[in-house]
Amino acid sequence: MTDRWTLHFLGTGAAHAIELGNASAVLERNGEPLLLIDCGPDCVRRCVDAYGKPPSAVFLTHLHMDHVGGLEQMFTRVWFDPEWRGRVHLYVHAGLLPLLQGRVADYPNVLAEGGANFWEAFRLVPCSRGFWHAGLWFDVFATRHHRPGTSFGLALPGSFVWTGDTGPFRKCWMCMRRVASLWRTIAAWSAILRTPASTMSSASTLRICANGCCCTTTAAWPTASGWKRAGSISRGRAT
Ligand SMILES: [Zn+2]
Repeated sequence: MTDRWTLHFLGTGAAHAIELGNASAVLERNGEPLLLIDCGPDCVRRCVDAYGKPPSAVFLTHLHMDHVGGLEQMFTRVWFDPEWRGRVHLYVHAGLLPLLQGRVADYPNVLAEGGANFWEAFRLVPCSRGFWHAGLWFDVFATRHHRPGTSFGLALPGSFVWTGDTGPFRKCWMCMRRVASLWRTIAAWSAILRTPASTMSSASTLRICANGCCCTTTAAWPTASGWKRAGSISRGRAT
């Protein structure tokens, strides 16, 4: 049986567009949540609202707080639940670990009463070129967002690619060109370029789902009357 892939967008905003939610999505396989991409402050709640449970696996693209600020909440959610403690896979590029430690795990005593270390709540899996999850190989590749070496994209060859808070198309193209197996995704660019996303500013977000028959972008860009979103976002899911 061929797997059916769905991206469920939990939010499509940014630190300065919080009304759109924190940029994040759940990759679903055959309708079941497989991997949460990024974990901003409202992502755990949105995930529980959608699936009735926290995510069992998370990939972090980069460490801006609207992408990792929900990890403390996630800690609290899973630490006190024996069924979840230490079972949430957290895939993070190895180069981000020192920064991530400072961002979310270095606070003295994650619990006021002590007795807990932050990372014991998770199953932390550092990665570089990619990682295995649920029997699948996910490619991890560098993207450009702020300083080089601080942002990474994710791809399931032939199925989808997620570039995170990568800016305009030229940057995306430079990153994606390095993932040769993404020929289907690259072919989808001609469709994408006909969307309003081609007008995005560098503050916009871009994500692409390409499963061979369709593609979509999630994009938000500033206008005189506020933040405008691409039409596909309002549907929440891209299949
Ligand atoms: Zn960012």
